[in-house]
Amino acid sequence: MASTMNKRERNFIHPAIYSGWEIEHCLGDSKGYWDGDKYMPVSVGAICKSLVDKGYLEAYKVHVGHTTTYYRATAKAKSLKCYNEMCSRGYIVNDDDYVTDVRCPHCEDGIKYEVNRCQI
Ligand SMILES: [Zn+2]
Repeated sequence: MASTMNKRERNFIHPAIYSGWEIEHCLGDSKGYWDGDKYMPVSVGAICKSLVDKGYLEAYKVHVGHTTTYYRATAKAKSLKCYNEMCSRGYIVNDDDYVTDVRCPHCEDGIKYEVNRCQI
């Protein structure tokens, strides 16, 4: 089993790593919501579970009358956020603080590339 994220998983976890958002999922709801915002629904299905299994997301439950499960980025996932000072969400910022169309060499959309040791 691959221990790195695939493209869909990277897209899924992006707000958790890049913006520090958590998924709020109330027991019985079909969907979860980023930061509990009803305008940002997110599916808590197979991709979410896979990210937990691989150690990129961690789940914790809160009981306040009803049960809510939160999913947040782990330290492993947070370490993938690009800290290139010239990078804004994967694009290089020039000296005038203007975001250019030059891609950051370290990351994709602000999330660093992973080294997959399983690849031949
Ligand atoms: Zn970058």
